[in-house]
Amino acid sequence: MCGTKARGQVMTGIKSVPILSYHALSEARSEGFYRWTLSAQRLAGHLDYLAREGYRTLTISALAKYFARGGPRPGERLIALTFDDAYADFHTVALPLLARYQMTATLFVPTGYVGAKSLWMSEEGEGERRIASWAALREIAEAGLEIGAHSHTHAELDLVSSQELTGQLSWPKAELEQRLGRPVQSMAYPYGRYNRRVRAAVAQAGYLAACTMNSWAATRSSNLLELPRIPVFQHTDAADLAQRLFVSRSAARREMLRAQRAAHSAVGSAAQAASVLLSNRMLHSQVQANPSLAYRALTNRGSAERDGRPEVTG
Ligand SMILES: [Zn+2]
Repeated sequence: MCGTKARGQVMTGIKSVPILSYHALSEARSEGFYRWTLSAQRLAGHLDYLAREGYRTLTISALAKYFARGGPRPGERLIALTFDDAYADFHTVALPLLARYQMTATLFVPTGYVGAKSLWMSEEGEGERRIASWAALREIAEAGLEIGAHSHTHAELDLVSSQELTGQLSWPKAELEQRLGRPVQSMAYPYGRYNRRVRAAVAQAGYLAACTMNSWAATRSSNLLELPRIPVFQHTDAADLAQRLFVSRSAARREMLRAQRAAHSAVGSAAQAASVLLSNRMLHSQVQANPSLAYRALTNRGSAERDGRPEVTG
C-alpha cells in the first residue's frame, strides 16, 4: 500500500480529499439492492485500512469549512465517510464500529421516512428496509456525527416544481434542527440528481455543502454545493477501496484541469466583452466630439462584426 500512496502523491500532486458514499449495512441482499449494501465485516475492513494508512475523518460541514480555511495541509490524509438514506443498520452496525476506530461520519436523512421503511423503493421491491428512528438519530448526533438532509421524500429534485423543491429542502432542515437541536448544514442529492436550479435552491435554503455522486475526490477548488463522492459497493473490499481512492485522486486532477480550462475560457470571454464595451465607449466619445466619424464608425462596426473582431474604432 505504501507504493500506492507514494504513486498517488507523485502522480496527482494535488491535495485532494476523497468522500466515500455508503448506503445500507447488512448481509441481506436482494437482486436489485445488493450493490448498495455492505457487510459489517467489510465496513470494519475499510475502517481498519483507513486507520492503518493514517487517514483522519471529517464530517462534510467540517470539510467544507476546512477547505475554506485553505486546508488540507501538505501530507495530511483526510477522508469523509457519508451514509445515505439513514437505514436503521447505520445505528446498530456503523455507529459502534466508527466509535471503535474513533472516526466520524455524516448521515443523510430523508425525513419523511424516519422511524418507518424505505417506501420510496417500493416499486423496486425494496420498500421494507427499516429507517432509523428519531431516538437513534439523536444518539448518533450526540455521538458527534453530522446529520444532514436527503430531501423529505427522497425526491428527484431536478424534476419537481419550484414550490416543491423549496419544501423538499427547507422542511427536512427545519425538522432535523428542531428535533436534534443542532444546525443542519449539509445535504445529499437523492439519486445524485441536481441541476443549476436545484443547486441555487440548496444555497437559498441555507445549506453550506451538498454531495453529488460525481465520482472523484474533492479538492479545495470543488464547488461546495457539488461535492463529489466515491460510491462504495457490496464488492468493495479493502484492496478495492485502496484502488478506488487512488483512481479518485487522478480523476480529481483531471476534473480540476477541466475546470481551470473552463475558467480560463470564461475569463477570455469576459475580457473580450470588456474590450468591446471599452471600444464602444471610446467610439461614443469620439463621435460626440466629431459627428462626421459616425458613418465611418458604423461601417467599420459592420465589417468588424462580420469578421468576428471586437475592435470597432477606426
Ligand atoms: Zn438516497
